[in-house]
Amino acid sequence: MKIHTAEFIISNTDVSKCPKDRLPEYAFIGRSNVGKSSLINMLMQRKDLAKTSGKPGKTQLINHFKINNTWLLVDLPGYGYAQVSKSKRKSFQKFIQDYFLQREQLVCSFVLIDIRHDPQKVDLDFMQFLGENKVPFCIVFTKADKLGSSSLNKQVTSYKKKLLQYWEEVPTSFITSSTSGMGREEFLQFIDGVNESFSIDS
Ligand code: GDP
Repeated sequence: MKIHTAEFIISNTDVSKCPKDRLPEYAFIGRSNVGKSSLINMLMQRKDLAKTSGKPGKTQLINHFKINNTWLLVDLPGYGYAQVSKSKRKSFQKFIQDYFLQREQLVCSFVLIDIRHDPQKVDLDFMQFLGENKVPFCIVFTKADKLGSSSLNKQVTSYKKKLLQYWEEVPTSFITSSTSGMGREEFLQFIDGVNESFSIDS
């Protein structure tokens, strides 16, 4: 898939105010600092479509982008960052939950995992929430360039092994690096395939 256009549409904290378009929608979520903004910018080949910052917890809104006029990309707030106050964390958890429970256009979510880290409870709990509510998701391992190929394989294998303690099968996963562009083609091909199943020519 070639990215011809990537336009920002709207940011908000209320799922009822999200765009009314009936286009297939893909949501990106993960712990703060996982590399979500960098990944979105890498995939879209834009420098600053999503805001990258060294300050975790900054993006606390549901951000909608329209891609190639055929599908929607959603940049969701990072979760599980300790320095965000408890009340704030609760409030974005609620609107994140509402988003996943109510957004009918959502066809797939991407849960981002920093490949250098062992499985974290907050991520496993989040996947559990998606599973229980029948929200389809894939795992996207980020920052692959930070590991050598053998430790990369070792981390991916042990992560999947951990998931098999909870799931009958491991969700589709991608290994990416925003600095090298690794995983980009495969990832966009996946979206293309899903879009095609909705008869959309992207
Ligand atoms: P977000 O909070 O999840 O949106 O994370 P950011 O995209 O802002 O990235 C957090 C930090 O990780 C920044 O310092 C990025 O430069 C760095 N980072 C993100 N992705 C990668 C990657 O693929 N490789 C490397 N080496 N660093 C990355």
